[in-house]
Amino acid sequence: MNSQETQSVIDRTEESILFTYRRFPVVFRSGKGVTLKDVDGKEYLDFGSGIGVYALGYGNEAYNKALKDQIDLLMHTSNLFYHENLPSAAEKLLKACSLSKVFFTNSGTEAVEGAIKAARKYAYLKDGRNDHEIIAMEKSFHGRSIGSLSVTGTKHYRDPFEPLMGGVKFAQFNDFDSIMSQVNDRTCAIILETVQGEGGIYPADPEFLKKVRQLCDEKDIVLILDEIQCGMGRSGSWFAWQNYGVKPDIMTTAKALGGGVPVGAFVLGEKCAESSLVPGDHGTTYGGNPFVCAAVNAVFDEFEKQDLIGHVKKTTPYLEAKLDELVKGHECLTARRGMGFMQGVVVKEIPVGKIVSACIENGLVVLSAGSDVIRLLPPLVAGENEIDDMICILDKVITEFE
Ligand SMILES: *Cc1c(COP(=O)(O)O)cnc(C)c1O
Repeated sequence: MNSQETQSVIDRTEESILFTYRRFPVVFRSGKGVTLKDVDGKEYLDFGSGIGVYALGYGNEAYNKALKDQIDLLMHTSNLFYHENLPSAAEKLLKACSLSKVFFTNSGTEAVEGAIKAARKYAYLKDGRNDHEIIAMEKSFHGRSIGSLSVTGTKHYRDPFEPLMGGVKFAQFNDFDSIMSQVNDRTCAIILETVQGEGGIYPADPEFLKKVRQLCDEKDIVLILDEIQCGMGRSGSWFAWQNYGVKPDIMTTAKALGGGVPVGAFVLGEKCAESSLVPGDHGTTYGGNPFVCAAVNAVFDEFEKQDLIGHVKKTTPYLEAKLDELVKGHECLTARRGMGFMQGVVVKEIPVGKIVSACIENGLVVLSAGSDVIRLLPPLVAGENEIDDMICILDKVITEFE
């Protein structure tokens, strides 16, 4: 039974908010570290971080102070003027990824839209054609706006909204021949997530990614890597592609980039930075404003101060070993996949939604992905104790289902 307070928020939300989400019956109010608290004071261990956003964990003092200070100075200027936080945020992002130029957006899907425009413009400037094609992956997820949806590989997300952006072909992720069968002289870009998130936590195969990079080099195709979920330290490197020894021509990032504030970015390598979008081609009212850039700056500063990437690298073997042990101990768990603090556990027979609901009732927030994967995206500050507690609850919940 929900408390009266909880039920009232749920009822008023469903009364007023368009029903596009089946929400869990929980009303969160505050958080500290890896723990969330609801309006009734019940605590939850959080292995979802607001879908991979709250990388620093809840209540990081330096981050919170930076935002409060910025509110008192200035929130917004528009992009018609300069402000101090913009170059510092961009410099930190560029240093992390060794690419050339940044465009800040308000969300992940907008970052993907920008990346698509930049890739098309690059090709247009090269050959003057306007019938270019993009190859995207089955099971991919790139966002909900029309352009991003057009390159999202889940048919039932796309079907009600056809006709979408034209010139998109789909290939099988981790199957290079499938990509080769779609390439022609109109192909301007290949877009993929370095680690597929929503689709079920599938890391790119190293050989596959190398071959795709090689193909893009040979044919001057723009390689767009979507790092919105797997980037910003989650993989144990700043960006997951850095674990592969390949480099994208354009990268998208968002989610953890602002640590809770809505911000994304598409980042261009030299080739596309020199020849793609110019004044008049693209814009945004809010994108990269003083407030969100204060957040981006604080996120990068805290990553450095706490050596969060070092922490993820050091703690990943423990997380993986514990999950592997869990999988071994349960008939209904068939595999673990993932990279760093982005992990998926494959379930058979028991509906994954039921497991997620039961975990939440037992005070553990986890996510699902694909149709049969328990998805774990803990804040990057999570340590061995939190991992032990997570395993303990997950083990109990799954045992009860069996
Ligand atoms: C979440 C996500 C997006 C979309 O980001 P929004 O901020 O929700 O628009 C795009 N690509 C990937 C890989 C994502 O995980």
